[in-house]
Amino acid sequence: MVNFSDLSFPEAPKIVTAIPGDKSGQIINQAMELDSSYVNYPRVLPIAFDEGKGATLRDVDGNIYIDFLAGISVMNFGYSNPVIMEYVNKQMRKLTHCLDFPTENKVTLLSKLNQIAPLQLKDNCKIFFPSPTGSEAVTAALRLAKLHTGRTTLLSFWGGYHGSNGEALAVSSWSGVYKCQHLPMLPDVHFLPFPYCYRCPFGMEHPSCNIQCLSFVKDALENGFSGFCKPAAMIMEVVQGEGGIHVPPKEFVQGLRKITEEKGIVLIFDEIQCGMGRTGKFWACEHYDTTPDIITSSKSIGGLGLPFAAMIYKKEFDDQHPGTSIGTFRGNALAMAGSLGALDFIDKYNLLAHVEKVSQVLNDGLKDLQKQYEVIGDVRHLGLMSAVEFVKDRKTKEPWPEFLDQYLVESMKRGLIQWKAGYYFNVARILPPLVVTEDMVNKALTIIEESIKVVLKNNRS
Ligand code: PMP
Repeated sequence: MVNFSDLSFPEAPKIVTAIPGDKSGQIINQAMELDSSYVNYPRVLPIAFDEGKGATLRDVDGNIYIDFLAGISVMNFGYSNPVIMEYVNKQMRKLTHCLDFPTENKVTLLSKLNQIAPLQLKDNCKIFFPSPTGSEAVTAALRLAKLHTGRTTLLSFWGGYHGSNGEALAVSSWSGVYKCQHLPMLPDVHFLPFPYCYRCPFGMEHPSCNIQCLSFVKDALENGFSGFCKPAAMIMEVVQGEGGIHVPPKEFVQGLRKITEEKGIVLIFDEIQCGMGRTGKFWACEHYDTTPDIITSSKSIGGLGLPFAAMIYKKEFDDQHPGTSIGTFRGNALAMAGSLGALDFIDKYNLLAHVEKVSQVLNDGLKDLQKQYEVIGDVRHLGLMSAVEFVKDRKTKEPWPEFLDQYLVESMKRGLIQWKAGYYFNVARILPPLVVTEDMVNKALTIIEESIKVVLKNNRS
């Protein structure tokens, strides 16, 4: 039997040096000599990690952190999860790669994914393992929608992030990184406002808004002057991650399903960040009782951080010629074993119920902090996908991204790793491994409060 509190380093958090410690500093400097200028994370959080266990990480200087980043939702089942490692180790000794030839594991995994496919996709789906990143899963979904409908127009949403290759970047709303740097993007992609209720794009309040954002989408699809032709697909994250953890109202998601169904537009739910148990249900769309035509998964689906992606789609879309989509790394044997281990772990240890319980403690704690500190403009969450939005002024809601940057560093110095998100880069994104314990959450809440106090003090003086 696995006890969740035994999965992590028991002494976490434990900081024994300045951050970065000497060894971390040395390794970072060595890496920087040849590592690309694209590399980002260690420039903000200067740490060289050595070992991960459960919801904790140890660096090369012996500092131990509670990890509320989880590799951006890749490590949902914790580092070095013993149940999953057993599956992977067994596979490692037998066969590590065999293109997309079937294996016994593949057959078992296909059948299990069919069993857990959300709502009306169960027993009515086909499953494709594209190349192993989220971007590739999104690309596969968009291409399938285009091939199936014979149309090219794509609709996406403000705040949506879907990846960094050609197609996935084109439907991503984040205009930083490469997108506005004179690289041609896929044409015929259009963006619509997503419900960001704290800063409603229509200046309204939920629920008296009558879901204005939904009416807007409907009108854009019906009026003859919205500037786009009948779309092949509409893609959305059910809960937005990079955009700042936006949990849309139920009526919005259900309304989109109704509209897309009526108009024959393929509805794609990107559950790459919000799926795999993160929100307390296996798929976030289960909270909305809404079935998409295609669902994309990656990140945690490889179990131990092994690169893997999947696209689950309605059987009726399975009308393509073999070889229309090709690639070398599809359904890697090790990642499939990791995936089977993860599904076994979720089931055996009732992980979704655990998420429900722990997320309550975390989010109640964050809400309490919001009551005490004006700098927290908003706290929002679904399961263990949480956001703390920092503002200069509660009334004007002016974003305070510099506060967030300082807060991330102060938290790190005290042994808590988090990352940023949001339209204005002022949102602390909290994504703990799902095996995090209540005790660890309480320790993290203490660090969050201390860090807020210190940054406030530093900004006053
Ligand atoms: N979709 C979503 C919702 C994501 O969060 C991400 C990654 N942050 C991607 C797609 C892209 O995944 P990858 O970086 O593996 O290509």
